[in-house]
Amino acid sequence: MLLKEQFNSITNNLQNYLKFLGSFVFMDKRIVGFLVFFGLWVLSFQLRAQERPSIVQRPITWNSMREDLSLSYLEQRHGIKSSSVEIVPKMVVVHWTDVLSVSKTIRTFDPVQLPGRPGLKKASLLNVSAQFVIGRDGTIFQLLPETTFARHTIGLNYCAIGIENIGSARYPLTDAQLKANTALIKYLMSKYDIQYVIGHHEYQAFQGTDWWKETDPDYFTRKSDPGNAFMEQLRLNLGLQQSVVAR
Ligand SMILES: [Zn+2]
Repeated sequence: MLLKEQFNSITNNLQNYLKFLGSFVFMDKRIVGFLVFFGLWVLSFQLRAQERPSIVQRPITWNSMREDLSLSYLEQRHGIKSSSVEIVPKMVVVHWTDVLSVSKTIRTFDPVQLPGRPGLKKASLLNVSAQFVIGRDGTIFQLLPETTFARHTIGLNYCAIGIENIGSARYPLTDAQLKANTALIKYLMSKYDIQYVIGHHEYQAFQGTDWWKETDPDYFTRKSDPGNAFMEQLRLNLGLQQSVVAR
């Protein structure tokens, strides 16, 4: 008898609980809608996050002097007065290093001040660098956070993420580098509003447009890295238009 009462009471409680849950869910469809939307949002975020290729961290020296020199570069060269070295990436510029090893390249970018190169030194004492370096086997190294200012492309540093590839005219970039650039840039495009992916040799297309921010109209250098063949294949992989028409 006691058992039966207990059983009935449990069943009633369960029924009431289910009724409560039922009314909670079915009475307010907005909650269901929200939960579904939230679930899909989390899922899409995870799917996007999965696109991040593996990246080896090799941070270069960042100190108050590099910060100060970056801020004066932004002001004196780009005409942008800012209290922060954070950039809003709108462009990716692909380079080759002419230097044929990753460690030598990182050693070159590590000092805060530019050694030698008088033409560049006159424009700013800040050393050149890039956010990423890709080895000939396709290994991706990160030297600076994606949104930290780096000096690699005259007129466009304020909005451009730089990717340096180990290679030269004599040692054209490899298939592994093409794959790694594709994966890295796809990831960057999913994260930022990237409007252009260009080779360094194409950067002068932006002179005379609003994109170009350089206070000295005579300050530019002619570049050949990384060449049309590589950029054509890269943009094809990324599903981008072939010709760089700066607007
Ligand atoms: Zn370059």
